[in-house]
This record gives sequence, structure tokens and C-alpha cells, in this order.
Amino acid sequence: MLGDIQRYDVIIIGAGPAGSSTARVIARRGYRTLLVERKSRVGIPVLCGEFLPTVEELRDILPHSSRIDRICNISNSVVLNRCNHIVLVSPSGDEFDIPMRAIVIDRAAFDQHLAEQALKAGAILLTGTKLKDRVSKNQVRLISGSGTRIVECAVLVGADGPLSTVARCVPGLSQQETNDLSISIQYTIEATGFDSDRVFMFFGNIAPGGYAWIIPRGHTEANVGLGLRPSYATPRRSLRNYLHSFIHHYLIEKLGIRNIRIKRRISGFIPVNGPVQSTVTATALLVGDAASHVMPTNGGGIPTALIGGNIAGKAIVDYLKSGSKLSNYEEMWRREFGNELITGASLLSVASIPMLSDAVTEWAMRCFGRRMLNDVIRCRVPYPFQELSTPLNLMTGQLHRFLR
Ligand SMILES: Cc1cc2nc3c(=O)[nH]c(=O)nc-3n(C[C@H](O)[C@H](O)[C@H](O)COP(=O)(O)OP(=O)(O)OC[C@H]3O[C@@H](n4cnc5c(N)ncnc54)[C@H](O)[C@@H]3O)c2cc1C
Repeated sequence: MLGDIQRYDVIIIGAGPAGSSTARVIARRGYRTLLVERKSRVGIPVLCGEFLPTVEELRDILPHSSRIDRICNISNSVVLNRCNHIVLVSPSGDEFDIPMRAIVIDRAAFDQHLAEQALKAGAILLTGTKLKDRVSKNQVRLISGSGTRIVECAVLVGADGPLSTVARCVPGLSQQETNDLSISIQYTIEATGFDSDRVFMFFGNIAPGGYAWIIPRGHTEANVGLGLRPSYATPRRSLRNYLHSFIHHYLIEKLGIRNIRIKRRISGFIPVNGPVQSTVTATALLVGDAASHVMPTNGGGIPTALIGGNIAGKAIVDYLKSGSKLSNYEEMWRREFGNELITGASLLSVASIPMLSDAVTEWAMRCFGRRMLNDVIRCRVPYPFQELSTPLNLMTGQLHRFLR
């Protein structure tokens, strides 16, 4: 055991976008803030497609958030590419071209930049250090190469991803199970012939219950991957096998991409079931993927991690400064993006029915057409059915539980 117990106002587990954003807000107000990251270097390895809609698009996707202009304005230094279209591809190859202005970022550099901002604000960062468990209400045990230490805090933040240890340790916070999550695999591929202006999303048995993607980092490099839900997939067929089949049939045969070299291989979980039920207790909260703050119909979680982190930071500062309830956090994030996440989860439940076969996926995509598909990937009930949003959410909540 290392030395005396150190005391902090706030301990944040996980230095991803959610954790670093939370830490920055709190440290800037002068509170003793510890940011704990199990990786030895923040952001590496990268677990991300690196796709991010522009601020203008985010204003449209999350219309109730007042923070987008301030929080989601990404420094040009981490932008690798700019795209203007997302092309949704049906199982037979029909293309639905949806205008969407977006950037592709260097995610490692982005995460490091956010962590540096938290450090500049006064936070302390421990890398190569992992939260092991909670030893009492205010104390947690950390492990690193140099041993175990107990640290104490007034508030504990779980920004530690979908399989959050904080959620597991703190009674009253909701925990996600692995079978609630979409599993994903991605290769960063160098090759010739990528269309740098268009992101592709492929639907059907190529990625059961999810989709496959090509996200161009430029003309000669792209993130190529897929996410699927295990309950929809062929038993015992590996993720790697799905991805290799996708690369062979689509990348090489259909799109004619040549001279392929795999630069990086990753796999991870994406929480796509909508927000967890309880994200806050009297002295702890969950943010980002740990709270399942991900847009269910497109799998994007960077914007909500940034906005959620900012909200968490503000709620914690108010709690420490004036004793207001920490539970205000839950009301705040629900107001800013809760509706979109819940609607997205409902839409995904409904879309799960056609996703059971290629023929029905094909039929559903054609019936929906470009305009409705555009609404669905933006997590909103498609025109002209917006009035049905509330009953849809109630009804699909039941369906969702049944399908899981
Ligand atoms: C394959 C894939 C592709 C994706 N593509 C996109 C995309 O293109 N666009 C998009 O918007 N989103 C994408 N996402 C989702 C996005 O990456 C996440 O939503 C986002 O990273 C959430 O940020 P976060 O800070 O909550 O979590 P993370 O970025 O996962 O950060 C959590 C951090 O906590 C650390 N940690 C975990 N446990 C502990 C512990 N016990 N102790 C200490 N540290 C711990 C981890 O090492 C990690 O650094 C993708 C996800 C995957 C898996």
C-alpha cells in the first residue's frame, strides 16, 4: 500500500472525452480534482470510428442543448478530413445519399488535447492507474504498477466506459450488462480509392442488428468496421469473420478498393440501448458511455460525452459550492439530450424487426426512403409521424425489453 490516504474534492475515473470534460469544469473552479486513467497514454489505443458531425449538424440533431457551440467546436489541429454525405446502403446495394457535414478526427490527439485542457485547469492526472473497487462510501482503491493506494473524495465520477467499474461499485447507479451492448470491430486501412467526401453505412446480414461502416480519414486511409448485436448474429461466427467478409464483398469487389494494408485493429463495445435508468446518487454519477449516453441509431457518443461531461462538471460545482442536489445532473442531461437518446432507442427497437432478414431490411429501407432514413439516423421520429413520438417511446420501451 502506498503512503497516506490522499483527499480530493472529486475523483473522475476515465480520461476519455466525458472524463476530461468533467474534470476541466471542476478544476477550473479551484476544486481538487483527480483524473484516473488505466491506459498508460491517454487516448491510445483508439477505440473509435472518429466521425463527428459539425456544430451546425449537431444543433439540428440535439436541438435542446445550449452548449454545442461552446463544447463541440473542435480544434482544426485534430481534424483529418471533412465529409459532406452519409450514404446508407441496403442489402441489395441501393444507395440513399444523406447530406451531412462532418469531420473525421485524430481521436488519440483529440483525447490528449482534452486531457491537457483539464490539466491546465488544475486537475491531476494519474495514467496507468485503474480503479479496483470502493472500500467505503468516500474511499476507492486504485492500482498501478507501483502498488495499491486508497484515495478519498466528496464526489466520485464514472466516466469509465460501457463496462463501468464505478457503476458496479456504487449502489444506486445502473450497470450495463455485456449482452445489452453492441459489439464492434474496426480496422484502419491504408489503400487507394477511398471517397473522402462520403461515409458509408451498410445494412443487412453483413452486420446483424447493426451496420458496417467506411469512414474516410482521407483518400488513402479509412476506418472500416462493423457493430452488431450478438442475439442477431449467427452463433459461433466470429466478429473478425464478419468484418473480413464485408471487406472482401464490399470494399474489394463492389467499391474496387485496392492495395489494402491494415494499419490498426481494434474491437470494443457500443451501448445502443438508450440511457441507463439511474445515473446519479447523493455522491456519485455516471457520464458518457458509462451512462449509455450514445445516439442509438448511429452509435455516435463523442458529442454526448462532451456535453454530458460539461453538465456533470457544472452539477458537481453547484453541489460543492452551494450544496444543491447532485441529482440535478440527471434532470439537466435529460433536458438537453435525453429525448433524442430515448427516441433513438425506440427507433432502433422498431428497426430491429426488419433487421432480422435481408429481404425485410431491403423492403423497409425502400419504403422509408431517403427523407425518413435521414430522420432515423438523427434519432428523431420520421416525418410525418412526429406526433407519435411519445406513444412510440412508451410502446417500444416494452418491445425493447422483450427483444433483449
Ligand atoms: C469501434 C467503435 C467505433 C466508434 N465510432 C464512433 C464514431 O465514429 N463517432 C462517435 O461519436 N462515437 C463513436 N464511438 C463511440 C465513442 O467512442 C464513445 O461514445 C466515446 O468514446 C465515449 O466517451 P467516454 O469518455 O464516455 O468513454 P471512453 O472514451 O471509452 O473513455 C473511458 C476511459 O475510461 C478508462 N477506464 C475504463 N475503466 C477504467 C478503470 N477501472 N480505471 C481507470 N480507467 C478506466 C478507459 O481506458 C478509457 O480511456 C465508437 C465506439 C467504438 C467502440
